[in-house]
Amino acid sequence: MAPLTIVMYHYVRNLRRSRFPAIKGLSTERFKEQIGYFKRHYTIVSGADLIGAVASGQELPPNALLLTFDDGYLDHYTEVFPILDREGISGCFFPPARCVVEDVVLDVNKIHFVLASVPNTSELVQRVFGLLDEYGPRFRAEDKQDYWERCAMAKRFDSREVVFIKRLLQRELPEELRRLMIDALFRQYVSSDEASFARELYMNEDQILCLHRHGMHLGSHGYAHVWLNRLGRIEQEQEIDTSLEFLRRINGKNDGWMMCYPYGAYDESLLSVLRLRNCTVGLTTRVDLADLSHDDPLTLPRLDTNDLPKTADAPPAQWTLQTCNR
Ligand SMILES: [Zn+2]
Repeated sequence: MAPLTIVMYHYVRNLRRSRFPAIKGLSTERFKEQIGYFKRHYTIVSGADLIGAVASGQELPPNALLLTFDDGYLDHYTEVFPILDREGISGCFFPPARCVVEDVVLDVNKIHFVLASVPNTSELVQRVFGLLDEYGPRFRAEDKQDYWERCAMAKRFDSREVVFIKRLLQRELPEELRRLMIDALFRQYVSSDEASFARELYMNEDQILCLHRHGMHLGSHGYAHVWLNRLGRIEQEQEIDTSLEFLRRINGKNDGWMMCYPYGAYDESLLSVLRLRNCTVGLTTRVDLADLSHDDPLTLPRLDTNDLPKTADAPPAQWTLQTCNR
């Protein structure tokens, strides 16, 4: 079966005019150009097409490509949706229900905006060390130098300072300590009004409904956007069921639905929870083309927008040539 290219997006915004020009995201102009590139080299399929192909075993068109948008940002409504609508193409959107229902900002987003607000990342590392000195002992945190040695390594798109801050605050520290430190940094550098920040950052339910009415696919990204592989079975069920309740308000009944794992994280127990609830497709953050004849449809890989060209007339990139040659 021909490979399927699944592309993952997060922020898509007019960065220069935004209040946080340093936020790591794709500009609307680049997004438009990338869609132009895809239209030249691929056939863009919808979430329903993919669900149908997995359920029936039928082939997708050659060079099929699926667009996926994580985290329910307002950008997706104001920037992405008008372009997709104009081009007559459909995308898949994965809002974490809690942000919409409770007006809270995800920890991961707080970290992004802290990083975007403090251009000098060495200074931010020092501030994080300061907070570790202050709060760490209460939570039996390890020595800060040990954390630094374990977590500070440059990755695909980030410097070692940035990777250190992200890893430390997203998973390394005990949960309560992480929360405390993230909130302190967010209040100090970004905003003291989390609820209004959440309303600026994420789509609301009406906007999500509007996407649905215009043929966009809405899938689950969990309820609270946590590492689902770190939860026990009962908590996994609660996360999935509350996210599905939310989706049902948008989509009506969910016969065949898509799951997008927060942080790309899942385990066997979660997969069995999903199978019992008739989940058809699961999206990870493993970087590759998807192959529906070999891959488990519940653990499909994706490419990042940055893995593909962002000009409409760019020559075919490596990943594009691979879809033709396989
Ligand atoms: Zn996410």
